[in-house]
Amino acid sequence: MKVVLIGLGQAGGKVTEALATHDYERGFDAVQGALAVNTAKTDLQALDIETMVIGQDRVKGHGVGGDNELGAEIMQAEATEVLDGLGGRITSRAEAIMVVAGLGGGTGSGGAPVLAKELKRIYDVPVYVLGILPGRSEGSIYQANAGRSLKTVAREADATLLVDNDAWHSAEESVAEGFDTINDNIAQRIGLLLASGEIVEGVGESVVDSSEIINTLRPGGLAALGYASAEASDDADENVNTITSLTRNALLTGTSLPNAVEAETALLVIAGQPERISRKGVERARSWLEEETGSLEVRGGDFPLESDRLAALVLLGGVERSQRLEAFLDRAAEAYQGATDQSTGQVDDFQNDELEDLF
Ligand code: GDP
Repeated sequence: MKVVLIGLGQAGGKVTEALATHDYERGFDAVQGALAVNTAKTDLQALDIETMVIGQDRVKGHGVGGDNELGAEIMQAEATEVLDGLGGRITSRAEAIMVVAGLGGGTGSGGAPVLAKELKRIYDVPVYVLGILPGRSEGSIYQANAGRSLKTVAREADATLLVDNDAWHSAEESVAEGFDTINDNIAQRIGLLLASGEIVEGVGESVVDSSEIINTLRPGGLAALGYASAEASDDADENVNTITSLTRNALLTGTSLPNAVEAETALLVIAGQPERISRKGVERARSWLEEETGSLEVRGGDFPLESDRLAALVLLGGVERSQRLEAFLDRAAEAYQGATDQSTGQVDDFQNDELEDLF
């Protein structure tokens, strides 16, 4: 799937750079352009992609310091400049636009829903948000910000693909120590999903294409991606169980949003050498996925890749009901309520434990 990436804020910029670099190094050509936008000048300096500073008149290049309402206001005021900066990159080749942001901060958290809304007004292609959720151990301001941002972004974007910072980091590292590992994992896994929708010449009809990714994300709302890989035999007949257990691991232990299992739609992509992919294994894995997700719309396809390993990617569309998400929203509402309490001494402007939209 040919995409244009726009990274907002620190996490958004770093993850966008990681995705663009991965795509370039592997020669996938799915990423058609990448721009990092931030209110903090220094966060942009280390990036090896094109960058743009916004909000200079308000914060003088120093960032919004976790104030996502200010992040939203600045994006609102400068959306036209950002869209102009993107202009040339969104050509007729682009099949989707992806806004990438950490939902717990300020610039990305506030800016992502605003920019998604503006992009949707102008472009016909779907506008997705790749949103990074704070891990459980991150502070309450991150949780509160992410709760409000998520609520708003889920309303504005065509779909929001969530990556929980607790999901893909290595067990030995804390979330902060593990950003590079997390970003590499995001680049590899989401990069593979985007690349899997590219037309590959000279191979059979079981190959997945972009429309299947887009249709899987069609229910809107929230989406998650599962991933697992393993060495495989060079004889497809010996890989029946490898494919079924990879699919199981991708869904049950490898998702970007832990415990997201129930979904409205799903897409199973098996990546690897076509000679190693067992049709019987794929069929069984798909039936299992139907049962497990409760989805009546499970798509599937191969992604031919030169490798002695096989990988399963499971894209889930419409995953709102996951337990992990409910737990996160409870935490965010509690944190938001705490913050409101501290700043005003009362919670009158905040009804019960609901999270307010950002705009
Ligand atoms: P902004 O610059 O104001 O948009 O704020 P950040 O992008 O720093 O957002 C803060 C959130 O993003 C927190 O939940 C951080 O844990 C997370 N975060 C910051 N940098 C990274 C990163 O490089 N990778 C990942 N995965 N998360 C990050």
